[in-house]
Amino acid sequence: MGRRARLSGTGPRAQLPNSPRTPPESSGPVRTCVGCRGRDQRSALLRLVLEPSGREEVLVVDVRGCLPGRGAWIHPTSACLALAERRRAVPRALRVTGPLDLSGVREHLERRDR
Ligand SMILES: [Zn+2]
Repeated sequence: MGRRARLSGTGPRAQLPNSPRTPPESSGPVRTCVGCRGRDQRSALLRLVLEPSGREEVLVVDVRGCLPGRGAWIHPTSACLALAERRRAVPRALRVTGPLDLSGVREHLERRDR
């Protein structure tokens, strides 16, 4: 007895049916892909950073997005990687002179695609 649904209609609560807040997919930081120059969520992009390896630095994919240092962002597609490579956008984004070996990134993408 008396089991009435009392979930709604209990006073003038400010409940907007269509919340004007930004939807989750358009919130959060946005980064620019060094390949196609398109802007996207950082979760949709891959972060590339330089990691010291002996006397040199190697380009690695920051899978967890928590490596220190300057990062270059790129869509995880071979098309964007090819664009970035042609423009030499990755070394420019990372402020390094000279070419960077992107083969590690390409391998990462190929592994993802499968
Ligand atoms: Zn892109």
